[in-house]
Amino acid sequence: MFRGETQMIIRNVTVIDGTGGAPRAGMDVLIADGRFAAIRPTCTDNSPASAGEPVLDGRGGYLLPGLWEGHTHLRDYGASLPEPERLAHLRNVLAGYLGEGITSVCDLGGMPELSPDLRDASKEDTALASLFATEVVFTGIDGWPVTGSTGDRSGVMEVGSVDDARRYLQELALGEVDYVKCMLDGKPGGGRRLPPAALEVIIAAAHEAGKKALVHIATGTDLRDAVLAGADCIEHSPIPRDPRDPSEAEQLAGAMAEAGTLYCPTIATWEQLAYGARPDYLDRLITDGILTPDGAQEIMARPGYGRPFPKHPADECQVRFEYAMRTLPLFHEANVKLVAGSDIARVMPTPARALLRELQLFARAGVPNSAIIAAATSLAAEKVGKQATMGTVTVGSVADAVLLDADPVTDISHLVHQRHLRAVISSGHIFHIGSGSGETGPGPEADGAIRPTAPVSCSLN
Ligand SMILES: [Zn+2]
Repeated sequence: MFRGETQMIIRNVTVIDGTGGAPRAGMDVLIADGRFAAIRPTCTDNSPASAGEPVLDGRGGYLLPGLWEGHTHLRDYGASLPEPERLAHLRNVLAGYLGEGITSVCDLGGMPELSPDLRDASKEDTALASLFATEVVFTGIDGWPVTGSTGDRSGVMEVGSVDDARRYLQELALGEVDYVKCMLDGKPGGGRRLPPAALEVIIAAAHEAGKKALVHIATGTDLRDAVLAGADCIEHSPIPRDPRDPSEAEQLAGAMAEAGTLYCPTIATWEQLAYGARPDYLDRLITDGILTPDGAQEIMARPGYGRPFPKHPADECQVRFEYAMRTLPLFHEANVKLVAGSDIARVMPTPARALLRELQLFARAGVPNSAIIAAATSLAAEKVGKQATMGTVTVGSVADAVLLDADPVTDISHLVHQRHLRAVISSGHIFHIGSGSGETGPGPEADGAIRPTAPVSCSLN
């Protein structure tokens, strides 16, 4: 059986390593013990004999790092289920991500009781996407998401001063979280804003513990203050001061580029919150291949479909969406590192599709495809401090990858549309094999269009 092998070769494939470099055609990729062990030009017949690894024929294929969902909230799935069933449900969610090519998922908070168990499960089981999570978020007194949402204060630390920040930091075992998440939300009506001086203290403590600090913002002022406080990544694009004026975005991009701050704009969220209640939006998603007509029916039948989202009115989200779409290339051109993350999947058939929609929107905004691939792979790994071991197809990196039958650098739809997905590899195990020309479900027993062949007559060792 192919799955479970500790060694394999993907032969004669085009490698897109995820760092934005040019694709390399005609490569053999050796995977050993869950990592990429060697990447070399395809062997010739007079090379030394094979060690007998199974071979995945990569001819005509494109191997790139497994995708990352850089910003989501798993609390939205199975929330009404009692705990043991909920954990099983969430495992299925992570398995579903993997089946669609997403091998890593970053949860940005809201599920403190379950995330350690789920994280452990994702580390042990290669059939699940790897989960990264924070157990708490820092916000201001009565700040988002406490107000306007369910009023649920679990997993939220409300900070009104530097002293509050220091006290909470003492309680919190920073060594046990993957990163720290802070809300710097200066939107009116959302409680008191986390004081920037306290934000600075929290970020410094995170950095001292070797963790990244991810900061949710609402306005351009929030964004600037977060950059000044040392944020590693800005979560969400800002509400513009003047929707017609791109100069605010230009200035923010300049500040982020100078500080080296990453940017995860979550545009797919603004689009869903702006247009999600409108049937013509579902039609657009069908046209764009994100949704099927049956999927649209299922979404409209969901409880709460079309209901406004707390604190985010549709007209404001529309402004935010249009501004983000217009200004995203400015950030890219200023050399701000973009990260792909979707935040919510309210109007999506599966959680994974929200991320794929984000990639589609990046492309539509005018971001080059190689930068989009980096945003969903190496730069997402960098956002959570895992760039040395994950998010690239490079020697030594964890062997999470997708194999496509068409080039995503020439057309990002080859990555977005699942029919091009031939295989998903998770920690060196082939988990999903598709035909490369039609939809297949996840699982090693799928139609098997790609099969290991006999060992080849040369080796990468
Ligand atoms: Zn979020």
